Amino acid sequence: MSTNITHLPTPTDLPINTFSMKHPLQATVLANTQLTAPARAPWNDTRHILIQTPGLSYVSGQSVGVMPPGIDPRTNRPYAMRLYSIASCGRGDDRKGDTLSLVVARHFWDNPETGEKGIPGVCSHFLCDSKPGDKLLLTGPVGKRFVLPLDFMERDFVFVATGTGVAPFRAMLADLFDQGYERSGRSVTLVLGVPFADSILYDNEFQAMKKQYANFTYVTAISRGDDVNPYPDLFPTRGNKVYAHIALWHNRQHIAPSLLRSNSVVYMCGLKGMETGVQDVIDHVGKESGIEGLSAQLLAEGRLLREVY
Ligand code: FAD
Ligand code: NAP
Repeated sequence: MSTNITHLPTPTDLPINTFSMKHPLQATVLANTQLTAPARAPWNDTRHILIQTPGLSYVSGQSVGVMPPGIDPRTNRPYAMRLYSIASCGRGDDRKGDTLSLVVARHFWDNPETGEKGIPGVCSHFLCDSKPGDKLLLTGPVGKRFVLPLDFMERDFVFVATGTGVAPFRAMLADLFDQGYERSGRSVTLVLGVPFADSILYDNEFQAMKKQYANFTYVTAISRGDDVNPYPDLFPTRGNKVYAHIALWHNRQHIAPSLLRSNSVVYMCGLKGMETGVQDVIDHVGKESGIEGLSAQLLAEGRLLREVY
């Protein structure tokens, strides 16, 4: 996990670890909805999981731990807890205050030692297979820095996500617009990179938001579609794919003013591999305006926050 410094005015009274591994919250699954096209399953199968969480307070950008049932054959002990970013704002999707949502991708992995391929990840499959009424043990919430600053009405935001890394941004966007951000005179951008055009996570919600709020810019990058990276010399990508940072650069006429504003904040979440590309694009945006090392400057000022691994 990347380290960050933040000098932003963030809340000091955040709920942290209200529930522990020793004393977890017994939560209940209320709904499990497939966000990706059914034909893409099982390899590309991402779920929106709505969970009843009585007594759990949290804020946008925090994560919870899920304790999958069962014994890990490697340790002979219960499976370790896995972290998931919360995809709903602190009041929940229904704003009633006793639920949270997760966005969970089925994880598969290959074992080079045994040659076995497509091994199902323990916790992601447990969650993706869950049904309404199922019980879950949760810990947390955790996370103190990847949250919105208190003075969000005075700031521009650029959110860059790959896949389920969209979770905290869905939560933060709900928070911003619940609190009248459309009247702030500032703007927020979401750049979302996913593999397939028919499986863009929460696309309907973000499209509706884009229609409703003139200060919301929404851009997608489809890595396995028909388009290819138009900037292969400047920003080479594997297989010449269109990744999130390519869309960031492609749309820089809209996004650069936010990136260059002195109190903007850039957040990125998702695959660790995205860091280099996004920072490279930020540096090039800076260079076009005569600023060297813009990403390092943002990092030093705590205005580039990363939750990637
Ligand atoms: P696991 O079974 O834990 O497998 C994961 C990896 O462990 C495998 O790829 C393999 O490398 C290794 N492994 C497992 N078993 C063995 C073995 N027997 N031998 C050797 N190697 C092995 N994911 C989401 O989908 N949505 C989110 O919002 C989200 N948020 C996150 C937030 C944070 C802060 C972090 C750190 C992670 C987040 N994740 C999220 C990822 C999530 O925590 C899990 O890592 C992911 O779901 C995979 O877990 P799993 O139990 O399915 O896979
Ligand atoms: P996914 O559906 O596979 O989408 C990820 C997208 O990013 C794909 O389009 C992928 O393209 C692209 N990509 C791959 N390498 C990239 C790179 N170097 N730069 C930019 N884009 C790149 O995603 P997912 O299954 O949801 O997984 C996303 C990852 O984020 C997972 O590891 C998940 O656990 C993690 N995550 C972390 C957090 C957190 O830390 N808080 C929260 C949520 C999710 P191709 O596959 O076509 O190459």
